[in-house]
Amino acid sequence: MKKVLLIVIDGLSDRGTKTPLSSAKKPNMDKLAEMGINGIMDPIAPGIRPGSDTGHLSLLGYDPYKYYTGRGPIEAAGAGIEVKPGDIAFRVNFGTVEGEGSVFDKVVVDRRAGRISDTDELVKAINEGIDLSKFGVEFIFRRGSGHRGALVLRGEGLSDKITDTDPHKVGEKVWRCKPLRDDENAKRTAEIVNYFMEKAHEILDKHPLNEERAKKGLPKANVLLLRGVGVVPHIPPFEQRYGMKLAVVTGTTLIKGIGRILKGDVIEVEGATGNRYTNVKGKVEAALEALETHDFVLLHFKATDELGHDGDFEGKKEFIEKLDRHFEQLLSLDFSNVCLILTADHSTPVTAKEHTGDPVPITIVYKDVRVDDVKSFSEFEAYKGGLCRIRGLDLINIVMDLIDKAEKFGA
Ligand code: ZN
Ligand code: ZN
Repeated sequence: MKKVLLIVIDGLSDRGTKTPLSSAKKPNMDKLAEMGINGIMDPIAPGIRPGSDTGHLSLLGYDPYKYYTGRGPIEAAGAGIEVKPGDIAFRVNFGTVEGEGSVFDKVVVDRRAGRISDTDELVKAINEGIDLSKFGVEFIFRRGSGHRGALVLRGEGLSDKITDTDPHKVGEKVWRCKPLRDDENAKRTAEIVNYFMEKAHEILDKHPLNEERAKKGLPKANVLLLRGVGVVPHIPPFEQRYGMKLAVVTGTTLIKGIGRILKGDVIEVEGATGNRYTNVKGKVEAALEALETHDFVLLHFKATDELGHDGDFEGKKEFIEKLDRHFEQLLSLDFSNVCLILTADHSTPVTAKEHTGDPVPITIVYKDVRVDDVKSFSEFEAYKGGLCRIRGLDLINIVMDLIDKAEKFGA
């Protein structure tokens, strides 16, 4: 069985005449470019600015316009909740509110509750203290890292056509959840969410941990701010769709969520932080190990994107160099059995500090590819390669064809 190793360096590419990637010292990535076929790729379509979630879905062969229903479901899956199609999922922040009256009369003074780090007890109190059975609904609430969490509502007749309760700004009152459609399910779901919001605030505000925080002068984590609502989509598992067992190696909750929603195995690596200090060596080794037990391994690195958002040219360049030092062992893979792809999910130029629709460089190394003249992995060399310009959704077809898993269309 042929194997596939897809390496996604998040937000890797930039704009302009000199970029972190083009100026980085990266002999191993350059060698891969030299050994492979190169091109540029529009992760979704030319000029479309992908999110990391929609970008990854596209690269894995899932049309985001068909399967993407919001960030909530993916974050919830990433936080370890076993989501089911039809569930309504939210991203959650523990925040701080002050004022009198109900939770919706109070003003958000901190959207991260002083970046509270340990919410285990608060999460437990909510799970034990709230009962939605009178609505015929159950909920699952899990903590994420730091002040983050995920909430899932499960039951009949729920809708994701509702508003957030997070005002997305400090100094504003908590938003009452409102239906976005004149339909019974949306109205009912908004009512359930508002009930949940009030109960959660009651429990949190008087929780001993928060009393203690208040005494120490720390902001109370006394409200749950909900956003990114979406219904969990019906999405065919990766293995069922492509006949390949999927493994995902990442430190980022969102990408873990993509892996879980596609029913792949998420491999946890110690020290995989999703930032520039991440354990690159451990992740590369875990990915190579996963190739023994799985057919398609996604290896994801996040820090390039964060450094792009920060506008940190040097930091981004240095992280690319750090990655490259640990890519040396990739050169000795058996490319008659492993198809390696090196690319990104979108550009996050340091000049834009945001995702842009610029295409990303892509290299495919495999025994039989039409090796081109490109000898360096960068925005400015990639487009001279034999792959020319492809879309994210083409990638899986190209790979399936190369490894002889594609079926013939026609006679
Ligand atoms: Zn991304
Ligand atoms: Zn980003």
